[in-house]
Amino acid sequence: MNEAFISPSRMSRWGDRLKKIEQLAQSFQQHPLTTRYKPRLWPCQPSSVWKLFPRQNMAISFTQSCKEAVHVFALEKEKASLGQRIYLVTSYSELWHYYRTYPQSLMHCYEVIPEGAVCKIYFDLEFHKPSNRGSDGKSMVSLLIQYVCDKLMEVYGIKCSAKNILNLDSSTEEKFSRHLIFILQNAAFKDNIHVGKFIHAILQPVINKIKSDSDLEKENSSPTENNENREAVVSEMTPEMKRFKREERDLSFLLVKNKDGQNCLFVDLGVYTKNRNFRLYKSSKAGRNAAFTVAEDNEFVPEPARRVSAEESVFLASLVCNVSFTGQRILTWDAPEVNRPQTAAPQCQQGSASNPDTVSGCQLSPYQEVDNFVLTLVRKDGIQGNIRRWSYFAAEQLLVYDINKYRWCENVGRFHKSNNIMIIVDFKEEVWYQKCHDPDCRNFRSSSYPLPREICVSYILSLDEEDQAYVMDETGNFEPSQTRNNSERPAEEATPGAWGDERDDQAYLESLNEFEENSGEISDQLLLTCVDDGCSQ
Ligand SMILES: [Zn+2]
Repeated sequence: MNEAFISPSRMSRWGDRLKKIEQLAQSFQQHPLTTRYKPRLWPCQPSSVWKLFPRQNMAISFTQSCKEAVHVFALEKEKASLGQRIYLVTSYSELWHYYRTYPQSLMHCYEVIPEGAVCKIYFDLEFHKPSNRGSDGKSMVSLLIQYVCDKLMEVYGIKCSAKNILNLDSSTEEKFSRHLIFILQNAAFKDNIHVGKFIHAILQPVINKIKSDSDLEKENSSPTENNENREAVVSEMTPEMKRFKREERDLSFLLVKNKDGQNCLFVDLGVYTKNRNFRLYKSSKAGRNAAFTVAEDNEFVPEPARRVSAEESVFLASLVCNVSFTGQRILTWDAPEVNRPQTAAPQCQQGSASNPDTVSGCQLSPYQEVDNFVLTLVRKDGIQGNIRRWSYFAAEQLLVYDINKYRWCENVGRFHKSNNIMIIVDFKEEVWYQKCHDPDCRNFRSSSYPLPREICVSYILSLDEEDQAYVMDETGNFEPSQTRNNSERPAEEATPGAWGDERDDQAYLESLNEFEENSGEISDQLLLTCVDDGCSQ
């Protein structure tokens, strides 16, 4: 039909209709439909996520698509074939809640340290007791702590002592076994690979000792080759390495014997690999009874926090990747002798891959699409900005880019002369914003801008529910999922003590349940208002 033939009366009918639609749209805007109420553990918590995956990479992908701050944990099943693990995605607080409620099914639980995630320094220490009758584990731990603290001061200028180190014990008659987790004031490592390199570097003298002993045994030592390597290393010193003095201290206290009577190291150097599973506080290995508890000689006391029990504070402190972005200094150790393969984006200028301070260099994260997007933000106005460094904060799902050369700051509305800016990509909110290194812009955070559709992880990854091969039943057992209608979550039963001593919370939840049963649904907005009132008391 041609517009020219529409009669005037018809035109006015259309006009009325349009008005009605506009009125409707306005009323919908003023009174939005309530979103479905999602159960929460307690009022101040975000809604819950509890998903189980047969494979680690599926679980990791899922956390990145999730709007909530969730993390991957590995669970070892009792009586399962050796080493078989399933992967749980949930929040720290929810894990802690069910960890206490179902100690049987969650007793062999590991934190997955995601590749590239900012993390604390951690140690796995052990020796076979019968093979080391004369060894005093406690004093070895104490000497190691002192040594690492001295090195942190020497290399990074960071002051710390045994009071900053959570010391966990899971020793048995057979084995001395400890975990140390360093809770530094406003400093953490870029990722566990950097932690491993730093620890390798500071323990080099004693590592060399073990190596030369075994070389002597094999009678094939080649000192000339070693000297050549050393010269190559010296020519490419990073600032950290220049501050690092060659250690003359006696580190022989770190030497222990294995079951075969050979020299080996008290420090397990094998725990600094990507996606490493690190056993949790209060967990034991499958088939064993020795769970990690706070060691007798532990000196770390977590700061008390509201609504968090002392035990939960220890649990939160023990999580290697539980590091907040705010005010954090990121430590790196870039050993030049290791040539990491560089995954280069086509438009990225190559600098020295091993040195993050390089002026022309470009550091690329594992998220190539995001890197490319960030580069489009800092390559305009005739300036070729670069990614000087990136850090991934798994706890908050933030990817933080330190930008080189491009210094436009939203706070001052112009380019800074010398101070650099940061671009922060928030995977949870699917937004990016700018922050600034200029002292005047210290607390500034720009508006949030949506990430382009094509790099939103939730867009890339639409999870197939069939991937969830396991569910947890009401008694806390993990079972292969039969149908998709199976309950994915444990029942919300009120376990004695599970709510702490906050009786108000219990009463609050009861009345909430009652209200829900009678009234159907509560809007999130209303709930938030109530929660805000409750939390500000
Ligand atoms: Zn600024």
